[in-house]
Amino acid sequence: RYATASSGPQARATVPNYDLFKQRLDRARATVLENKPLTLAQKILYAHLHDVSSMTSAPVPGETYLKLSPDRVAMQDASAQMAILQFMLSGMKQTAVPTSIHCDHLVEAYEGADKDVARSWQTSREIYEFLQAASQKYGIAFWKPGSGIIHQLVLENYAAPGTLMLGTDSHTPNAGGLGMLAIGVGGADAVDAMASIPWELKAPRVLGVRLSGSLHPWGSPKDVILALAGKLTVRGGTGYIVEYFGEGVESLSCTGMATICNMGAEVGATTSVFPYTPSMARYLRATQRAPIATAADAQQASYLSADEQVTQSPETYYDEIVDIDLSSLEPGYNGPFTPDLYTPRSLMTDTVGREQWSDKVSAALIGSCTNSSYQDLSRAASLARQASERGLKVAEGTEFLVSPGSEQIRATMERDGIQQAFESIGAKVLANACGPCIGQWNRDENPVVKNRETNSIVSSFNRNFRARNDGNPNTMNFLTSPEMVLSAALSGRLSFNPLADTLTDSTGKEFKLQPPTGDELPKDGYAQGRDEYKPLLDHQPAMEIPIAPTSARLQTLEAFVPWNGQEFFNTRVLITVQGKCTTDHISAAGKWLKYKGHLENLSRNTLIGAANAAMDGQVNLVRNSIEGLEPAQGTIPDVALAYKTANVPWLVIADYNYGEGSAREHAAMQPRFLGCNMVIARSFARIHETNLKKQGVLPLVFARPDEDYFIFAKDPHELVVQTQGVKDINEHNPVVTLLVERIRDGNVIETYSVECRHTMSADQIGWFKAGSALNLIASQQGA
Ligand code: SF4
Repeated sequence: RYATASSGPQARATVPNYDLFKQRLDRARATVLENKPLTLAQKILYAHLHDVSSMTSAPVPGETYLKLSPDRVAMQDASAQMAILQFMLSGMKQTAVPTSIHCDHLVEAYEGADKDVARSWQTSREIYEFLQAASQKYGIAFWKPGSGIIHQLVLENYAAPGTLMLGTDSHTPNAGGLGMLAIGVGGADAVDAMASIPWELKAPRVLGVRLSGSLHPWGSPKDVILALAGKLTVRGGTGYIVEYFGEGVESLSCTGMATICNMGAEVGATTSVFPYTPSMARYLRATQRAPIATAADAQQASYLSADEQVTQSPETYYDEIVDIDLSSLEPGYNGPFTPDLYTPRSLMTDTVGREQWSDKVSAALIGSCTNSSYQDLSRAASLARQASERGLKVAEGTEFLVSPGSEQIRATMERDGIQQAFESIGAKVLANACGPCIGQWNRDENPVVKNRETNSIVSSFNRNFRARNDGNPNTMNFLTSPEMVLSAALSGRLSFNPLADTLTDSTGKEFKLQPPTGDELPKDGYAQGRDEYKPLLDHQPAMEIPIAPTSARLQTLEAFVPWNGQEFFNTRVLITVQGKCTTDHISAAGKWLKYKGHLENLSRNTLIGAANAAMDGQVNLVRNSIEGLEPAQGTIPDVALAYKTANVPWLVIADYNYGEGSAREHAAMQPRFLGCNMVIARSFARIHETNLKKQGVLPLVFARPDEDYFIFAKDPHELVVQTQGVKDINEHNPVVTLLVERIRDGNVIETYSVECRHTMSADQIGWFKAGSALNLIASQQGA
């Protein structure tokens, strides 16, 4: 293992073993890679091949599965619960790679930072104690609630150029801003890495984004990814690693690059990465990792950036290229309801009117894992100071909330007067946690939410699916830079353009905000913050892990039943999903977050956000296909549970990019728990497809997605499905055929033969046969 010599709890990353990196990469180059020039992403991947000698030919992007050895795992508190429950089933005594757990998602933002953290110990003590005990038992660094958001803490402590990390959260790619290849996965994938089982990834294509010029005074790194999401759409990055290059890269701060990589998740990319730059070295030194900067400086030209031939002739070596000129990039707004609906500032005012978006901004939110760097906050604070000097506060009826990404950021913000600048205009500073970004904030009593009113919120976050932030499907959520959020907080209007419009000060005089200014890094270094938020590094192998049998929030997992070696018979179509169906739709967050460690209770939210193509797009409503089984028509979890109780297997028919959004493996485990044996989609989001495979659900795509999907869009409750090809499933033949009968009044009135494809490797077929990937690991451990 090249990055670290040993596992065990660590407060910070150790210096990567770049010599081993070189040896491994050189070996891969000389054998299977035919000494071809490589992009940075390819270098990092191929230096992490588990066993290059097992490869017989050059990997084919989009086809060959790479078996990789990640250096590190990071998990957040919501997804860590299930990952740990699974790791407990694996029979391992300790994690094989350095691992950290970060308590960030379960802190609700209600009364302000400290009170909210204290409150979260009351509401989630059971979960925290479970995660803490598991961390102690298995040698994991445990970051308590209030210490910060996973991606910010990883950037500050664990990211290192050229290394490979898995994180159980879809915004794990944030660490690409520090030259790390950091990939969002489900807990079962994390368990692979923690158990030293080779982790599989289909060789990705590499999409090069060439940056030229430099940002103008109102421009911010966020605008790069907002514009890119507009160009690529939420599906455009699927199957790709996004790699940035070009002279514009050098003009960006390390934390700015992290913002760009963070939101790369919104284009569906496997991950995003920047080459090593002097700004990364500055950030490493500022965060007390000078030895890593020194080691990386020595490697920069050869191992931490693309080969020279690639940068000289990028069209030859990148699979796709997108050009972005930073100098002409305007502040952007993406939304509402989808992160790829891009509107540049100069068109925003007109678009608000034309699209009848709600102009009134009911909440302005900055911070989160995406945008809470010192640079972000100091630039936004410079605008806040301009306003407070003129006696101005945030607009009436607009709530202004700040979510610092970590205790280090919060303490530095407080020391340097940034927090005071925000508070002087009426901001409330929340705990160092996810809070509003994941719908955990005090909006329930707000009339706009209570009455389901149409309203707009503006945030510097990264994701804006309908109802994500406050449960109100009529809340229009716009993603933008911290500077634009601040401007919206002051004006209270979406249509306000700070580059052109004026505000009115306390004396009635009009004034224009001057462009924001701020520092890339704090001049006096980062403040360290309160000791209570330092990580717990306490390895105690004999520790007992507490799970009360009566708990509503934690439940010991039972292994899924292995496949019986036969075709699937008598399978019912639970729902034909219409349109966008993200992991939020399959396994909602918000109030359901508290059940993340209790599969049975959480499964009561399965697919409650899915729209039924056969019932005019109605959400969470399906017909039961079995006569006499109650309910005849009901919510999706109710009907799924009825099928499970009656031992009737069922499947889901899905639209394009099914499962986009997060790495939430619950979105695969819950259907499996309720008896789902297949999901057949027009296409899948990568992580979710892998998660289905890990949990023993067979994911298939239609061979003719534009035609065959519609067979299932009409009265799917009449359909009974049998497979042909599952019995002999293998990695060389991707075809599985569905033999479908339409039965009405007891008679078969139509039959269809629908050709589908699977994308499973030999190992993944092993998971399917064993009933889940974990069953396979456990059998290998003799557990
Ligand atoms: Fe937390 Fe939001 Fe970042 Fe996810 S995207 S880690 S919920 S702050």
